[in-house]
Amino acid sequence: MGRLNNILMEAGGIGRNEDGSITRLGFSEDYFQALELIKKHMESLGMKTEVDPVGNLHGILPGKDPSLKSIVLGSHLDTVIKGGVFDGMLGVAGAVECVYRLKEQDIILDHTLEIWGFNMEESSILGGTFGSRAITGMLDPDQPGYAEKLATFDRTPDDVRTAKKDISKYDCYLEYHIEQGDKLDSADIDVGVVNGIVSVIRYQVTANGVSNHAGTTMMPNRKDALVGMSKLIVAADARARELDDTLVFTVGKMSVAPGQENVIPNEVVATFEMRHMDKSVTDQFFADIQAAAKEIPNCTFTFKNTVAKYSTPCDPKLVRIIDQVCSELNISHMIMPSGAGHDANPMAHEGVPIGMIFVPSVNGISHHGKEWTEPHHVDLGAEVLFKTVLTLDKTDRK
Ligand SMILES: [Zn+2]
Repeated sequence: MGRLNNILMEAGGIGRNEDGSITRLGFSEDYFQALELIKKHMESLGMKTEVDPVGNLHGILPGKDPSLKSIVLGSHLDTVIKGGVFDGMLGVAGAVECVYRLKEQDIILDHTLEIWGFNMEESSILGGTFGSRAITGMLDPDQPGYAEKLATFDRTPDDVRTAKKDISKYDCYLEYHIEQGDKLDSADIDVGVVNGIVSVIRYQVTANGVSNHAGTTMMPNRKDALVGMSKLIVAADARARELDDTLVFTVGKMSVAPGQENVIPNEVVATFEMRHMDKSVTDQFFADIQAAAKEIPNCTFTFKNTVAKYSTPCDPKLVRIIDQVCSELNISHMIMPSGAGHDANPMAHEGVPIGMIFVPSVNGISHHGKEWTEPHHVDLGAEVLFKTVLTLDKTDRK
């Protein structure tokens, strides 16, 4: 195995559980141990490093021309509980691998290269993408109750404010990540060129019927809210499948009232979540769900929108450059959306052009101890990242 795989295996030894999975939660001792490991690599390469007030690792490799904006690479250093080796760490270690290659080939970039190892990208009481939202200024530390939450990690709202960077000096942000799905693996394609990160749209759907005795109420006379909700879920699932093959629909949570064995349910509340790149598709899907609800007898439905995070497109010029790099290297690749959110989201939200490179997750498994990406794919993705950086350094994209 090459250098990058070795770094990943070394980092993967930190926070390792007995079952082989890894738990490296943000702000934990294991988190900072992994951060120190990457920091040492950065320093051995002559990079200036800092650990910012919210626990992000930041490395800087100055370029020849200080008037140029920085090319920024990064991902996250934390894992979920019982996660894997590659989620997050691949993007940070892959960025460090690029600097190793620059040094080996005696290349000094015109642009300054910055690397971020973000803290707490995974969900926590501080909200997902904590570290990257802090540096982009997207995070409001004065929101009610937030100071108390920060205090549990010995941090203050001032730490969040101090962590904010001037990202107008960022030319672009590139994130190298595992796919965490099975599109690449099942199609036997080596690299995914991400064109955007899909939306997350959620509705709270309530079905209302009438409660009555489960023994005395004959079937024709029932107004069963759970039967109505079940019909709506089955109809929505079928519609999602026919509407678009990259539309996903999930009911992950449901409550039944009054919730007794011998009482017909009068109220069922369920979460309807949909994700897609195009707003027009999720809008159409929601309209179809509402129409289907009207056709379901003995039950009335109400819909309340609870989450509307619209999709985040990658920068079209960056997509084209990464696509060309893959073609020049003769790597099988496809343009695809990301089904999961990433640190690239806050960057894009605050106006930094983003690009993402995916490599296959074997069997699409992620957030799990069995998460695996083949060593040759790890190296292939790093090669694409490296060549993309070299291309961007010599390209006037304006
Ligand atoms: Zn991740």
